[in-house]
Amino acid sequence: MKTNSFRLIGLITLLSMPVLASAQRDGSNSGALRGFQYQQPEMGTVFQLQIWSADEKEADDAAQAAWDRIDQLNQELSDYLPDSELNQLCRRTDSGPMKEPVRVGDDLWNILSAAMEAAKLSDGAFDVTVGPLTRLQRQSRKTHTLPDRQALKDAMSRIGWRYVKMDPAHHSVQLLHAKMQLDVGGIAKGFTSEQVVKLLKQRGLNHVLCGAAGDIAVGDPPPGRERWRIAIQSLKNPEEMSDYVAIRNYGISTSGDTYRSAIIKGERYSHIIDPRSGLGLRKRIGVTTVAPHATTADWVSTAISVLGAEKGLALVERLDGAAARIVTLDEQGHEKVYESKRMPQFLIANPATSAPKPDSVH
Ligand code: AMP
Ligand code: MG
Repeated sequence: MKTNSFRLIGLITLLSMPVLASAQRDGSNSGALRGFQYQQPEMGTVFQLQIWSADEKEADDAAQAAWDRIDQLNQELSDYLPDSELNQLCRRTDSGPMKEPVRVGDDLWNILSAAMEAAKLSDGAFDVTVGPLTRLQRQSRKTHTLPDRQALKDAMSRIGWRYVKMDPAHHSVQLLHAKMQLDVGGIAKGFTSEQVVKLLKQRGLNHVLCGAAGDIAVGDPPPGRERWRIAIQSLKNPEEMSDYVAIRNYGISTSGDTYRSAIIKGERYSHIIDPRSGLGLRKRIGVTTVAPHATTADWVSTAISVLGAEKGLALVERLDGAAARIVTLDEQGHEKVYESKRMPQFLIANPATSAPKPDSVH
């Protein structure tokens, strides 16, 4: 689907100027690059693409290639599709731990490698083996009740990133516990966006963006701009923007519980799970991260949500080129803001209010 103007639903909003259909088809500047925007439901959310090209057909064909790639990644990595490569791997543990490793495709290998590195660096706060817990949590969202003790205990017994054995020499994986369920939802949108930007660049299209809700990868900025400008929703008042970030050839992610939480007996439980308790986070926290790779930005924002501000900042400082802005909200509604050392270099003033006019602010 091609669109002429849109507002991204959830957490991050793009500030680049929408391109009008008339301008897109204006033959008078056929030599110049023109911006084309597309959006489509994918992976349970809405993905969007921005592609700058001299030729509309080139942009349309590239967008089609991007949708095909996203679809392929969904077929491989989804924990909803029973026959995804990920779920087929997990099913091998139905009657006990896998006796032998199995070779997996490049995408599954790459995302699981990144996820295992994330687990190590975050000391298990980011853990893609939380699948049994996310399944309980999805039920809780529907029934508005917490899982019963036995179900929680059973799910907790099947969790642990150390049960995932990776063999880099053979790109093979062995799951070392019975009834494991992997869930790459905390890293897949950043990973996918990064893959799509890579694909578009391979086609010679460098001024591009791909993203979904809170997870975006960007290439070179729109012509005439220094950087892509992205607005972050306020945790306290989601209809307002709290911050503005400027990046190029980078990834940005925001994790928060604004849209996907369960209210149970008056308490809000985030869709992000603390692997130590087995339950959704109850503290209010919104985390925006930037990193040279969108895959990293994605897992780090989820990991920091679990770790909290202090440990989260320590984690992000250890990652090359990464930065974070963390907002916590206490029970009285008081916000507290934390920024990592590198964050100020990515923050910009509100382009709508800063002089002289939005387009000149980079
Ligand atoms: P995000 O929106 O990127 O912060 O990711 C949230 C999603 O990650 C959830 O919907 C789950 O699918 C998954 N998830 C939840 N808790 C964790 C965790 N502790 N580690 C890794 N993934 C998680
Ligand atoms: Mg994430």
